[in-house]
Amino acid sequence: MRFLAVTKLIGAIALGLATACASPVDSETEDVTSLASETPNEIAVRGLAAAENFPGLASLCDLDMVFRDVNVPRSASEQPRSGGGGGGGGSQRPVLPPTQVFDNLYFVGNSRVASWLVGTEEDGYVLFDALTSDAAAEQYIIGGMAELGLDPSKIKHFIVSHGHGDHYGGHRYLTEQLGLPVSMSAPDWALSSTLGVHPRFGPAPVEGEIIEDGQQIELGETLINLYVTSAHTPGTISPMFTVYDNGEPHAAILWGGTGLNFGADEKRLREYAASSNRLRKLAIDQGVDIFISNHPARDGTGEKMEALAARKGGAPHPFVMDEAAIGVFDVFEFCPLAQAERISSGQYQSAD
Ligand SMILES: [Zn+2]
Repeated sequence: MRFLAVTKLIGAIALGLATACASPVDSETEDVTSLASETPNEIAVRGLAAAENFPGLASLCDLDMVFRDVNVPRSASEQPRSGGGGGGGGSQRPVLPPTQVFDNLYFVGNSRVASWLVGTEEDGYVLFDALTSDAAAEQYIIGGMAELGLDPSKIKHFIVSHGHGDHYGGHRYLTEQLGLPVSMSAPDWALSSTLGVHPRFGPAPVEGEIIEDGQQIELGETLINLYVTSAHTPGTISPMFTVYDNGEPHAAILWGGTGLNFGADEKRLREYAASSNRLRKLAIDQGVDIFISNHPARDGTGEKMEALAARKGGAPHPFVMDEAAIGVFDVFEFCPLAQAERISSGQYQSAD
């Protein structure tokens, strides 16, 4: 139902967009503080304009959104969940095959949630995320690597983007299988320690290593910068790293967590916007031209991998967006900010 509301909003703003938002927001001169005089709707219009290139993110600007807290169990009277806030409904989803997306980037996941493997056999890998369960990790990560002819013993670091079960669910199997600890940010270790055993995702990780903001991992020619952001969770890890397309370098951001499913928390929404503002600057410095997500519905992984499979020699890589990739930070800045303004202006009415 929420998608209807977004569509309605997009429809309502569509006429105004061409003139109001013809030029992209200048990230050098305008930041979150200068939007203080705008209404939630005006800020959402900016976010939705940016989301035209990122349709899987438009729901973040839905001003009818009810702010669920994914860590608070729902009562039996509520409607059944639709995927942990990870990207919406849809019952028939295609199977996404394990795929080499770049020379040094592999998708090993399913249609709901992704694990990404960065690196090479020669230099080793970093594995990002553990999917929803031990069985899923075994099937899609270890099984997917086998299908791709990759050796799991070459994985050097096992990083969980954030403390939600759809990303740590397979951690026990993987730590045992890989002989590696879970690495998470300190704020999400603190979060994880409060979660206990989830009915779907099993026990949360309780021990491992801490990833610091700005930490770097080098795997041969692949440099991975790890950024810790207060956004989707208190310490979501969003890496930026070099990828190679037949030897040609590009830079990717893997946004570590997306949904605004932490309750009606105005402070966190503003932190989310500020985190995006900070990462935008870093992404511009690093020449980021690719956006990927750990939920395929968010970045269109499936459609892009299909286009990649059909790519003819010399054609552009479907994941490479050039400068347009930076627009994702407008979505991640303006949509949470519009939601924060909804709360502070008293427009948000909790359904509870
Ligand atoms: Zn999450």
